[in-house]
Amino acid sequence: MQQINVTKTYLPPLEEYTAYLQGIWERGHLTNHGPLLQELEEKLKTYLGVKHLFVVNNGTIALQIAIKALGLKNEIITTPFSYVATTSSIAWEGCTPVFADIDAKTLCINPDEIKHKITQATTGILATHVYGIPCNVEAIKEIAEQHNLKIIYDAAHAFGVNYKGTSVLNYGDISTLSFHATKLFHTIEGGAIITNDDELAHKISYMRNFGHNGPEAFFGVGINGKTSEFNAAMGLCILPKVPELIEARKRISELYDDLLKSTSLKKPELPEATEYNYAYYPVLFETEEQLLETRKRLNENSVFPRRYFYPSLNTVNYMGKQDAPVSEDVSKRVLCLPIYFDLAENDVRRIATLLIN
Ligand SMILES: *Cc1c(COP(=O)(O)O)cnc(C)c1O
Repeated sequence: MQQINVTKTYLPPLEEYTAYLQGIWERGHLTNHGPLLQELEEKLKTYLGVKHLFVVNNGTIALQIAIKALGLKNEIITTPFSYVATTSSIAWEGCTPVFADIDAKTLCINPDEIKHKITQATTGILATHVYGIPCNVEAIKEIAEQHNLKIIYDAAHAFGVNYKGTSVLNYGDISTLSFHATKLFHTIEGGAIITNDDELAHKISYMRNFGHNGPEAFFGVGINGKTSEFNAAMGLCILPKVPELIEARKRISELYDDLLKSTSLKKPELPEATEYNYAYYPVLFETEEQLLETRKRLNENSVFPRRYFYPSLNTVNYMGKQDAPVSEDVSKRVLCLPIYFDLAENDVRRIATLLIN
């Protein structure tokens, strides 16, 4: 039986990619802010409706540059329910991740919990729009304003998500994306940093390029966040397909909804006024035992869902012990089901049957 994984990377028709390769060979310009990268950045800004967007070589560097550009120090309040890069970027930048527990409905950081974690040492909030579900951006903004904190949104899952009529990337001081091959839109490896602030944009633009101000001068300290033309070419091939990729995922998601509606499985809730991207299909079991039993049955039938996100990040070995009971509980009971552009209806039906029995 053909193996079905939680996701499958979309690859464009090969001849579309090789047409771009032809141009790269002719120009001999392989990286360092080449013409394909510039074209991709312009098209992404238009597609997403954002002011400044910088493509970088992965979503983790995007987070690290965001923390540096905002000058965050000491404690950063963050979510324990995300991919490990959200937490590790904070630690890697020499700051302390302080976990605020999540909301049991949306699985995003709970604003009331943020309030309880603020100290004299807090400089910012790094929250994830987990599965592309928008955080409570209004409440977070209010808290940040009251306490003079910066906001970064890890929007790695939120490509194409709109909230209240605008891209969810327009909230917070900086948002970051991942364009890893497992994400809805990808450049094989890649990511982006988004801001509406001109001064921050300038900082980000030099920070991702070693801090250069021309070949022999520097604005400040920087790192190598540059992206190659080969990665940009992949992005240019895939971007025009994104609406149909989202449409296909929507159909699969609605079919799962229908097939699973009479089960005890629960889904996280989307806030009102969200236009979703169907990037993930998470389901919550009543107990971890049920999850493990079901996963075993799926695996035996060549279906490989993933425990996104497990374990809860407050329990990762290099973090001091911090409490986040909701996140720990959810992490043990959540499973992301396979969803991707060409997952066949028959396979969705088969997976649903395995989930029910
Ligand atoms: C994928 C992901 C990242 C890391 O992105 P890379 O491009 O793999 O470095 C960060 N945060 C979240 C929530 C992710 O899912």
